[in-house]
Amino acid sequence: MRTLAVLGATGSIGASTLDVVARHPDRYRVGVLAAHRSVDALADLCKRFRPELAVIADTACEEPLRARLRRHDLACRVESGTDALIAAAAGAHCDTVVAAIVGAAGLESTLAAARAGKRLLLANKEAVVMAGALLAEALAHGGGELLPLDSEHNAVFQCLPRGHADLAAAGVRRILLTASGGPFRGRKAAELAAITPDQACAHPNWRMGRKISVDSATLMNKGLEVIEAHHLFRAPAERIEVVVHPQSIVHSLVEYADGSLLAQLGNPDMRTAIAYALAWPERIDAGVSALDLVKLARLDFEAPDLDTFRCLRLAYQALAAGGQATIALNAANEEAVAAFLDGRLPFLGIAATIEHGLSLAPAVPATDLAAILDADLTARRQAQRMIATLSA
Ligand code: NAD
Ligand code: MG
Repeated sequence: MRTLAVLGATGSIGASTLDVVARHPDRYRVGVLAAHRSVDALADLCKRFRPELAVIADTACEEPLRARLRRHDLACRVESGTDALIAAAAGAHCDTVVAAIVGAAGLESTLAAARAGKRLLLANKEAVVMAGALLAEALAHGGGELLPLDSEHNAVFQCLPRGHADLAAAGVRRILLTASGGPFRGRKAAELAAITPDQACAHPNWRMGRKISVDSATLMNKGLEVIEAHHLFRAPAERIEVVVHPQSIVHSLVEYADGSLLAQLGNPDMRTAIAYALAWPERIDAGVSALDLVKLARLDFEAPDLDTFRCLRLAYQALAAGGQATIALNAANEEAVAAFLDGRLPFLGIAATIEHGLSLAPAVPATDLAAILDADLTARRQAQRMIATLSA
């Protein structure tokens, strides 16, 4: 029996995780549920999954949550704030942590879970982009294991030979990450100037939170995933390629020296990756319908348009630059996407803000948590100034 902490329980990954968990009460129980500030949604989940501990990141929500749970007659403990979140990720109420908070807000709890030796089911790609080396250190120190939830990385993990630390020694030539191309595939930059948040969030194949939906529309999501793959699989950037595959059926591929390509296919439903990571090395039912190849009939592939979707090129650039570039990339992107969703920045301003941020990123790496958080804060301030200029 595994006991889970679901951090980001009220989000899209949180919901898919709890759906799989509910199908296997004999295998999984929920020890901790955590969310940002959605009191009602978190209380409803507590009623259904009966965790020992509920954590709400916004301290102002602690009393309202406690009152709601009391009304439901639930004995669950309630805590709030960032420190409570970090303590819960490392604490005794779980052996498995689902890191499904969006953005840099998930960094410290992800690191804490790794350091404490938990099985880490990682969706929070921003944490890897900001602190990939530190996360690897924390995992080595804790002795736990990381299983990627991001569908591409989950696919690559499934296609790599087990137990090989070195890709070249395992005969791996390239990792091919597939990208749907997002809702604006095939369009040129001039056609994207007046895009609204709702248009950007209308993803053709996946239902996700709004931040990652915008990232998918700019292709920054794929850029973050290239950096994520670099850290998770210790792969140099030149061995990671992106191919656009509009059907989102092939979730990614690994190419070997002998010419073999191994791919993982399935319907676009995050529950497959989540079930794989939950049960690994076993396989369990995820509630996902089988893929009908005959009905599907065809799979298409094309090269990404790096001139229109500049964010993907900027991500490769940040990875090559080293220093604090990937921290700056992530921070500028988070600020720009938030501004875009708020109507304070045009769609094309997202790439412009990130490009500006990269030009200011210090060349010295930030190696410990304090330095990483400091670099993140500095880059956010620079991005906010740029956003103010672009929206003026
Ligand atoms: P979402 O917006 O639907 O949910 C985000 C969750 O994080 C919510 O539960 C929210 O309460 C919590 N949260 C937000 N800010 C917080 C804070 N400051 N402190 C504590 N909790 C906070 O997002 P999502 O689509 O579920 O994505 C979550 C993560 O998973 C992201 O990093 C995303 O890139 C990654 N991911 C998502 C998908 C997907 O299909 N949705 C696929 C691959 C990777
Ligand atoms: Mg993905």
